[in-house]
Amino acid sequence: MRRIRGNERNEIEAVCRDFLCHDKESKTSPALVAWEQICRPKKYGGLGLKKLHLWNLASIAKYVWWIESKAGHLWVKWVHAIYIKAGEWHSYKPTLNSSWSWRKLCQVKERFLPLLQSGDGLQGGYTVSQGYSWLQPAVEQVDWAPWIVNNWLVPKHGFISWLAGQHRLLTQDRLLRMKIIQTNTCYLCGQGHEEHSHLFVRCVYSSTCKNLVSDWCKEKLPEQDWCEWWIKSRYRNISKKKIMGLILAALIYHIWAARNTCRVDRFLSRPEVLLKKIKNDVRSRIKNCSFKSHSRGVVMWTDQMLVS
Ligand SMILES: [Zn+2]
Repeated sequence: MRRIRGNERNEIEAVCRDFLCHDKESKTSPALVAWEQICRPKKYGGLGLKKLHLWNLASIAKYVWWIESKAGHLWVKWVHAIYIKAGEWHSYKPTLNSSWSWRKLCQVKERFLPLLQSGDGLQGGYTVSQGYSWLQPAVEQVDWAPWIVNNWLVPKHGFISWLAGQHRLLTQDRLLRMKIIQTNTCYLCGQGHEEHSHLFVRCVYSSTCKNLVSDWCKEKLPEQDWCEWWIKSRYRNISKKKIMGLILAALIYHIWAARNTCRVDRFLSRPEVLLKKIKNDVRSRIKNCSFKSHSRGVVMWTDQMLVS
């Protein structure tokens, strides 16, 4: 396998960043969400993407850890004989005529020195994931992560819901604040001002769609913040909770897609057409993913959604 050079790594990250952070129609538009946020672990509200340069540092730190802990290893004995000699690893500085790779390894050692000296969590040895996590800035865990960042949602539904959950969709109120547009009348109902809370709570069109979905799945859907509602909902059956998350994410995605179609093509589908798209997406996910439940009531509820 060919080694990826530093500038190639930066280019790969730039492509990912442009794709995920910006509105696809305009790279000059404001970032939808910070790259920092995307690269956070899922339980901290990110998408769990790896920052390649940090992963690379954490991988190199594995050699640093070997020198630290594996005195009997043949390579470590060689390192001591050639470079460190009678010196001490923590305080060791490479000479100017040392090779580039050795000086790089010593730079990584300096960066990881606080971890090596504290030994926090290293009792069982060092792993690259552990080193990568240690390099991340400390942030608080979020409780909505299990809903949005998971493998049972349709990926594009999950991504749009992830943005919506953080109010980071490029709604018109953001463009208005940046003075990119002059008015922010809702494309969907033509009545309110388009902002997150209008689009997903008060909008007449969205509410009609939500009520149709509610009638279909025979479940009451929230009047207020949908993310918060789902997290706090007390479904005893985990399959039902997952399927309700699947339905909500599909609803959010299709409302946002209808809004975008209306903005570009000046055409708005009837709520019944939106319901049909949601049904198709949810049904195909239910058929293709495992939502097995031992509850007869939940099985009947799921079966009924597949045919109604
Ligand atoms: Zn509206």
